[in-house]
Amino acid sequence: MEDGKPVWAPHPTDGFQLGMIVDIGADALTIEPLSQRGKTFLAPINQVFPAEDDVNKHVEDNCSLMYLNEATLLNNICVRYSKDLIYTSVANILIAVNPYFDIPKLYSPETIKSYQGRSLGTLPPHVYAIADKAYRDMRVLKMSQSIIVSGESGAGKTENTKFVLRYLTTSYGTCQDIDERIVEANPLLEAFGNAKTVRNNNSSRFGKFVEIHFNEKNAVVGGFVSHYLLEKSRICMQSTEERNYHIFYRLCAGASEDIRNMLHLNSPDNFRVSFLVDSGTVCLDDFNRMVVAMKKIGLDDTEKLNLFRVVSGVLHLGNIDFEEAGSSSGGCILKNQTSQTLEYCAELLGLDQDDLRVSLTTRVMLTTAGGAKGTVIKVPLKVEQANNARDALAKTIYSRLFDHVVKRVNQCFPFDTSSNFIGVLDIAGFEYFEHNSFEQFCINYCNEKLQQFFNERILKEEQELYQKEGLGVNEVHYVDNQDCIDLVEAKLVGILDILDEENRLPQPSDQHFAEAVHSKHKDHFRLTVPRKSKLTIHRNLRDDEGFIIRHFAGAVCYETTQFVEKNNDALHMSLESLVCESKDKFVRDLFENNSNSKDSKQKAGKLSFISVGNKFKGSSFIRCVKPNLKMVSHQFEGAQILSQLQCSGMVSVLDLMQGGFPSRAPFHELYNMYKQYMPNKLTRLDPRLFCKALFKALGLNKNDYKFGLTRVFFRPGKFAEFDQIMKSDP
Ligand code: ADP
Ligand code: MG
Repeated sequence: MEDGKPVWAPHPTDGFQLGMIVDIGADALTIEPLSQRGKTFLAPINQVFPAEDDVNKHVEDNCSLMYLNEATLLNNICVRYSKDLIYTSVANILIAVNPYFDIPKLYSPETIKSYQGRSLGTLPPHVYAIADKAYRDMRVLKMSQSIIVSGESGAGKTENTKFVLRYLTTSYGTCQDIDERIVEANPLLEAFGNAKTVRNNNSSRFGKFVEIHFNEKNAVVGGFVSHYLLEKSRICMQSTEERNYHIFYRLCAGASEDIRNMLHLNSPDNFRVSFLVDSGTVCLDDFNRMVVAMKKIGLDDTEKLNLFRVVSGVLHLGNIDFEEAGSSSGGCILKNQTSQTLEYCAELLGLDQDDLRVSLTTRVMLTTAGGAKGTVIKVPLKVEQANNARDALAKTIYSRLFDHVVKRVNQCFPFDTSSNFIGVLDIAGFEYFEHNSFEQFCINYCNEKLQQFFNERILKEEQELYQKEGLGVNEVHYVDNQDCIDLVEAKLVGILDILDEENRLPQPSDQHFAEAVHSKHKDHFRLTVPRKSKLTIHRNLRDDEGFIIRHFAGAVCYETTQFVEKNNDALHMSLESLVCESKDKFVRDLFENNSNSKDSKQKAGKLSFISVGNKFKGSSFIRCVKPNLKMVSHQFEGAQILSQLQCSGMVSVLDLMQGGFPSRAPFHELYNMYKQYMPNKLTRLDPRLFCKALFKALGLNKNDYKFGLTRVFFRPGKFAEFDQIMKSDP
């Protein structure tokens, strides 16, 4: 940072503000903001960054800036966003800011055409450029590719994923029907797996990995969807101002009179508050669109009704209520008003009414008492236990139904052979709320694994490239998060195994689980007891109520109440056999491959695509950014965006690049780009010599670039400078 030049200093809401350094202390700088002359404030040295000479200038590739740091990145994104340029690249990584309005022509068929076959960097940054790069890499390298889309809820992951899919199928598809089905699968999946939340009106509550498969001629032949971690708790409980899955409301609001009668649905308001809060604002169009999507992917009327029947079965199930039996048994009975509901529920799910009632209010146990080994006894359930049994049943049926929907979607774009595929991953990014439970724990664990993948792909590969090209630059350090991953998934001592172990105890408890976690990891750097935390954002919990994990993106305090229950969605035996023997074949089939025994690692992790990560030759990353919490257009909340960039590892990438050579170009590309400006004598040289001669002729500073074996590497900002000289010099 030079004297008299403005710098970026922290600002509480904008992220950064321009200012001048007026005094330099031991570890803090005194800054005078440009906007408030005369007023000064202190800023830690490591949070003050050099600014570009022209802060109103923006660049497509952030690496062509002179100073690569979090402040210049934020400013570049901000300037571009104000001009509706929502995409920015940082070398090969794409940053996408959610515009919250439809930018004209941004995704038009003409735009799609213009990106086909064009190298990265030749056109403005776009999700299409990333998609096309993946396609070209797949074709040239004959290897499958992956595109990883991340960001917090509402940042635009799912929309960008859809743009990628549509781009690939319309550009490189041959069969209109298959292309359409791949695209139409989305409304159906979203009807069953998306819900309105406070962060996103159409929030995906499951992760997905969509593969587009290509034949040896590199044309689209089909697709395959895998799903991860459907949020089950939402089926029975939603937070304030959040809703259950779309399908529930759409069915109640949109189905024809006939169907509504058949399914005993009147208005959504008649259903239990916790199952179906805030029924307002249901759009009939949404129902109709969903039905069209069902038709397009090939579901006939019977299949459609099957889905609807089970959904309303779950709804009615939610309406069943219990009260104390009043006798000495300590058990419970169904509330009087709910007998009609029980009847509907049993009818829709193909169950016997009495069996259902008995199974909800008692549980079968094998007793070993009095030496009479293996005697079956019926134990009455308390109201609370019966509520849990009902919710577990609803969750299990609905998640099986969701599995079925995904399976059915996959059947509609089958393929015999495929040579390679491009996979697009859309899962929730790092999450932390005021209260964090098992869902956040699983999602953050997934993200921890993704971050490791990102580190290895971007940071490690970068260094390996320098080495391979013989650049001899210093090693750059990044935080390895293997210890955090081990804390969660290590055999026996990992938190997931401890939780599974707890579930196997005769009387599992959340408190005992939390204590076990702490006692097994007493001095673990990544794990702390909540009450000892200096982090004021965290509530004070006892050490048997939760734990704090220091994730790569920040510390999160998990409250362990319900961990045991949420990990164990197994139904008790009598409910299990009840649904497995349903008279309704469709319901029975949902439970056909009955494997409730999957351990939590499979349930939480399911990240098989990462362990096979090496199968992918290339991965592209799209980092989605949410511009504001209000979900409105044209509002840039800097501080909030900055924290997203930090969480996603982008800041580490910049550190790496600032110390290295972020812009690079193969000799032959430079040759082709600039030969038109050169005299004939030069163009007869081979590309490497051509570049050497060119740089010498221009008198470029030797510190600004390095020649590798196959390409030239430029210091930050230097390639852009060079390009400008070339294009302005006659
Ligand atoms: P996420 O999947 O990250 O939670 P979504 O992709 O569902 O977020 O985006 C949330 C909402 O933001 C969408 O419903 C849409 O209204 C808006 N949105 C996202 N990306 C775009 C875009 N590129 N153009 C216009 N609107 C967008
Ligand atoms: Mg989504």
